[in-house]
Amino acid sequence: MEKKDDKIVEKVNVDALFLGPKSENHKYFKETLNFLMDEHIHWRRDFHPEDAPVVSLREQHEEDFEATLQRTTNALLELSSKLKTSSMPWFSARYLGHMNADTLMAANLAYMATILYNPNNCAYEGSPATTALEIEVGRQLAKMMGYDPEKAWGHVTTDGTIANYESLWVARNLKSVPLAIKEVKPELVKGLDDWQLLNMPTNLILDLVDKVKAEGVWEAVREHTARGMGVQSGKLGKLLVPQSKHYSWTKAVDVLGIGQENMISIQVKDNYRMDVKHLKETIDQLISEKTPILGVVAVAGTTEEGAVDEVHEIVKLRKEYEKDDISFYIHVDAAYGGYTRTIFLDENDQFMSFDALKQTLHDQGILHKEIDWPSKDVYDAYKAMPEADSITIDPHKMGYVPYAVGAVVMKDKRVLDLISYFAAYVFEETEENPMLLGSYIMEGSKSGAAAAAVWVAHRVVPLNITGYGRLIGKSIEGASKFYNSLLSAEYFEVNGKKFRVAPLTKPDFNIVAFAFNEVANMSLEAMDELNQKIYDQCSYKSGPVYSDDFITSKTDLDFDNYGNAPKAFIAQLDLPATEWDKLGSVFVLRSCVLTPYLTSNITYDEFWDIFRNTMQKILRLIVNSR
Ligand SMILES: *Cc1c(COP(=O)(O)O)cnc(C)c1O
Repeated sequence: MEKKDDKIVEKVNVDALFLGPKSENHKYFKETLNFLMDEHIHWRRDFHPEDAPVVSLREQHEEDFEATLQRTTNALLELSSKLKTSSMPWFSARYLGHMNADTLMAANLAYMATILYNPNNCAYEGSPATTALEIEVGRQLAKMMGYDPEKAWGHVTTDGTIANYESLWVARNLKSVPLAIKEVKPELVKGLDDWQLLNMPTNLILDLVDKVKAEGVWEAVREHTARGMGVQSGKLGKLLVPQSKHYSWTKAVDVLGIGQENMISIQVKDNYRMDVKHLKETIDQLISEKTPILGVVAVAGTTEEGAVDEVHEIVKLRKEYEKDDISFYIHVDAAYGGYTRTIFLDENDQFMSFDALKQTLHDQGILHKEIDWPSKDVYDAYKAMPEADSITIDPHKMGYVPYAVGAVVMKDKRVLDLISYFAAYVFEETEENPMLLGSYIMEGSKSGAAAAAVWVAHRVVPLNITGYGRLIGKSIEGASKFYNSLLSAEYFEVNGKKFRVAPLTKPDFNIVAFAFNEVANMSLEAMDELNQKIYDQCSYKSGPVYSDDFITSKTDLDFDNYGNAPKAFIAQLDLPATEWDKLGSVFVLRSCVLTPYLTSNITYDEFWDIFRNTMQKILRLIVNSR
């Protein structure tokens, strides 16, 4: 239920959302945590107040009792020491590495409070409070992605990997339904040959399933789908993924019995987005060989570059093929970029027009006037996402919620019957119908605290421009500034040697990859070695990161995974193209800019000074050790 005072807040104040780099909000944090602990303590005491205490005061003073508590304290101190020595300082703007930043106070408090109740969302019986929250979060995320929450299905997974597995699980079983119907009840698919049966659009397959259910043969049909019979290699066709895919897809085709050889990588362009032309050529080739397409995966926010695939073009392509009775499943892997859709939604959760969006971003001070974001392609890609059959979203990335929380949303909740081991009364939130999540999802026992954390995060930070949009806007602006600084950075000079830095590509949203090269160096191998050494000084490699001045991550872009896309980049660093042909791989530093703290000019200028000075220091170290 909406509380009245929620309405007073029109937009969130981002600085009030986090504990803060210097624990600025510690007073609120501790008081609230304390309050939540009191709530829990009273909850226990008030459960049957007539029950006598089990632990007596006398026992609490016994020697072994006290020794046990001391042992607990010691173990916790040991843990705390390890945590303080070696943890990653995600909260600091000096950390620009993996997909991490500070996490929302609201989510952290919710998590810590809920853990004491230890809910297990596998079954309603073990989590009457938090199973309902998981389903609600599923609806919220479905709506965020543009699905009709009444028709869609979504829930919280442990992570994006499991969410991807779950979507492929659905796609696989779905693809095998029409042939299963042909075996069990051929009259329902009369006149259709196997090729047509393997090329049905998702909604038609699900309509057929409804018919099969009406005929009372669904159980029998289902036993003839991939879930009952397994997958015969290649029979369901090929899964097409961009070269930039996350490696969870490689595992997914293995785990689900699709097989590596049935996954085809589509080339990326030099902006690291899937090359839709190559996608079309591949599909045409497959069709000419009568090989069906199991599905196409588009990535919104590639793990290494943050590139946003042109979902609108992929959806358009499918529409064109459907005119020729050829169809396939589309999944958007928006594990990273999913929450970014909130920027496009106005305060009433409506997807804004391109012009209205640009105006709003600048008028409301979400992005500085000089920052021109998004590009039309990125806008169109986000707009087209609800056309996909399913989408992965990771609250533990751009949702700023602590691990481990992923999510998957599916456009048509009827797909659940393809994977469930119970009748799908899960949606009916009536008392007779317990929500037995465990029988509709990939996982079994699972944390209710994680679902509670996302739910509370969404209560505090609305899933539109007034909430997450503002927060993510700051991240995009920080990335944009960092990119511009790298682009126009002056040379670094050490003992007469000059070094330059260049960004890999203009970020589609907030990942900035970059590399250094010594001026006049013509060897890619030497350049890789230089950047490797820089990385060592900016990571755990050089000892505990607590003393590092700047921390980042790295990646290798190689020919196997990226084709010739990086060629343009190494040319920008003045290396001859032959070096790429020789080595076929380039080592880059990679900064995911999730932090909201790089946006004000003063802090940004301070950050850039720190960055420059740190790099200067490291380059000196490297030159001096030669
Ligand atoms: C992070 C990521 C995943 C995997 O998610 P985990 O939560 O790490 O399991 C999948 N796809 C993309 C594009 C990602 O960025």
